Amino acid sequence: MTTVDKFASNAHSHLKVRVGSAGIHFFNRITGMNLLVDEIQLPSSKWSVAPRQVSIALTNACDLACAHCYAPKHPAVLDFEQLKAWLVALDLNGCIGVGFGGGEPTLYPHFTELCSYTAKKTGLAVSMTTHAHHLSDQLLEKIEGNVHFIRVSMDGVKSTYESIRGKSFDVLTQRIKALSKIAPFGINFVVNSQTITDLDKAIELAMELECSEFLLLPEEAVSGAGGIDNDTYRLLQEWVAQYCGSVPLTVSEGNADGLPTCNPLDAEMGLSAFAHIDASGMLKLTSYDNSGVEILEDGVIPALHKLSRQG
Ligand code: SF4
Repeated sequence: MTTVDKFASNAHSHLKVRVGSAGIHFFNRITGMNLLVDEIQLPSSKWSVAPRQVSIALTNACDLACAHCYAPKHPAVLDFEQLKAWLVALDLNGCIGVGFGGGEPTLYPHFTELCSYTAKKTGLAVSMTTHAHHLSDQLLEKIEGNVHFIRVSMDGVKSTYESIRGKSFDVLTQRIKALSKIAPFGINFVVNSQTITDLDKAIELAMELECSEFLLLPEEAVSGAGGIDNDTYRLLQEWVAQYCGSVPLTVSEGNADGLPTCNPLDAEMGLSAFAHIDASGMLKLTSYDNSGVEILEDGVIPALHKLSRQG
């Protein structure tokens, strides 16, 4: 067993080792430290089979009704036992982190057990994307230590936010303050003609709340309708070009044309970098894709091989 194999087999360690086309990647889920040793190239037979990051829609259920939502609306929820087996397989095959989403992940019936299982039985970093309104103090207490990063959806501020989400903005900021005590957090901001003028105020608030990352999500079209218009996109490009705030900006890769992006692992792209599992158990290249490969009884790794052959 090589030193890298020994590190990689230590599933319960906070330090994860991934081998790929970019080199040897060390990641600590507690500190968020990433270290890439790209001077050493191992043969492709040694590369990790699983994607670096996998997003998992636990359920399609959500109690909000945002107009820009692209999540499927038919009822679907992942089987807990199957899901645990997929997480173990992803972990053993070099995946570094999973992102739980939906729908609204806090509505998944086994949500707290799932976070605890993933943190304790695997070496995966756990992140979640949430509207945050169900993250009560009690729920935060249950997931503390088992979720390593929380992404909060916040499109616009005050009345803009309230008209989109139908929820109180003051309650949202209160919940963000509470969740920031148990894990670092980021803000996901859908950019469209309604929200773009709120970007300055949103960033100001993000700085005040000590947000770790501000993710810009140019609105995607849903069934051919909606989506960010060209004028708003140009305004967004100008805003990004002039940005000099202290909160790091990121942008959704699928819609980043003309915006500066920084992929730390350029050599690792496509299915080596990312995959999505929807709430019906379909493995896909991205959450926006309509088609994918069903994960059958033999598990997630054979489904990955099949998707890779199709790609
Ligand atoms: S909170 Fe998220 S999942 Fe729910 S409707 Fe809004 S965008 Fe969709």
